[in-house]
Amino acid sequence: MAGKLQLLVYGKVITGQIDPIEKKPVTHYMPGSKIFSIATTGCAWACQYCQNYDISQRRRPEGTEMLASEVASLAASYGSQGLAYTDNPPTIFIEYARDVGLEAHKRGLINIFVSNGYDTPDAVGMMNDFLDCITVDFKGNNETGFLRKWVLVPDGEPILRTLLDIRDKTRIHTEITDLVIPEVGDNLEAARKLSRWLYDNLGPDVPIHFLRFHPDYKMVNLPPTPVKTLEEHCKVARAEGLRYVYVGNVPGHPWEHTYCPECKAIAIKRYGFDITAWNLNAKNQCRNCGTPIPITGRLSTSVAEERFLPVVG
Ligand code: SF4
Repeated sequence: MAGKLQLLVYGKVITGQIDPIEKKPVTHYMPGSKIFSIATTGCAWACQYCQNYDISQRRRPEGTEMLASEVASLAASYGSQGLAYTDNPPTIFIEYARDVGLEAHKRGLINIFVSNGYDTPDAVGMMNDFLDCITVDFKGNNETGFLRKWVLVPDGEPILRTLLDIRDKTRIHTEITDLVIPEVGDNLEAARKLSRWLYDNLGPDVPIHFLRFHPDYKMVNLPPTPVKTLEEHCKVARAEGLRYVYVGNVPGHPWEHTYCPECKAIAIKRYGFDITAWNLNAKNQCRNCGTPIPITGRLSTSVAEERFLPVVG
């Protein structure tokens, strides 16, 4: 407007709800926390399977007007341990997220991005001011043909560069997801290449979650990802050396749990977004053999509370 870029969705919250941190999914940072999640409208991508297409593909800036301080106070008033910026990629509203995030820190709350990682170095620099944790979400194993056809972006190289920038220039806790889409985005060799890149660049302890696809938006003709396909992806990631490999969106699957990489005992047992057993000592070491498990924070007391609540929108 008048020769200046303006963030039209600034201060417009289209949805706000309390969720478990495990829903992001984040499993190695402040487990059991209650997180107030917000989104605006809009997205720079056009994923043909988007489960949030109603808000991500909406081109009108709409939502409840909220000051940054109001969002942070609302989150605190519900007893949340932090905020997540999610449902649409938060870097499209990063100036607002930063202002909310700074208010959140004043109240002792953490900030989490659920991101597609398609960011500029400047955006990563801004994250450093307020962000504690990020999930970077790959789609279809980051395979170029998939991204061109079903996401409508040229390739996933900027995502890899973002991860290197986060590694080198910040202290943000990072987890990875990969949405596995049957028939079109389930190439095991691409999964192997991605896993090897993660091992080489982020190390064996970066958690990775292979997520089950559910038919939605313009891809309702495909079935949900077969569980066997997800298991094959997990095996490939483990073979490449990653130690914390999870199946997501399959409640009750044994690979929802965290296993000790040494003695193979279950260190944290989960069912869906719930933690059902905590087998770590006070230093977050495996109770069975004493191996340190890379989890930041202790089990939150709010794990026992109702952690689903619509608040805005
Ligand atoms: S990046 Fe996320 S919000 Fe945007 S279109 Fe893709 S799935 Fe939807």
